[in-house]
Amino acid sequence: VASLEDLTNRMRDFTQARDWGRFHDLKSLTLALAGEVGEVAELVQWLPAERATTADDGLRDRLADELADVLLYLVRLADVAGVDLGAAALDKLARNDERFPVTTFRSIAPEAR
Ligand SMILES: [Mg+2]
Repeated sequence: VASLEDLTNRMRDFTQARDWGRFHDLKSLTLALAGEVGEVAELVQWLPAERATTADDGLRDRLADELADVLLYLVRLADVAGVDLGAAALDKLARNDERFPVTTFRSIAPEAR
C-alpha cells in the first residue's frame, strides 16, 4: 500500500523529470484537481442511483482510474502548497468528531438537524 509520503515523492520525481514544476502553481493544480473530480462525477451523473454501484466491474475500473487522478493531483497540490495532507486530514477528523458527536448525530444527516 502506498503512503501519502510515497505518492508525494513519486509525483515530485515525475514532475521534476519532465521539468513540469513551472506549470504546477496553486491555481493550475487546483483547476486540474477540480477537472479530475468532474471526470469522476461524469461517470455516474446520468446513472440512476441504484445503477451507480461498484457491482459493475467496468464502472469500478473507470472510477479507480479517475480517483487515482484525483488523489495524485491532490497530493501534488498539497506538496506545492506546503500542506502536510495526512496531518491536516487527521486534524479535520478530530474536529469533525467534536462537531458531530455520535450521541447527537447517529443516523441523522448533519443538514437535517
Ligand atoms: Mg482523469
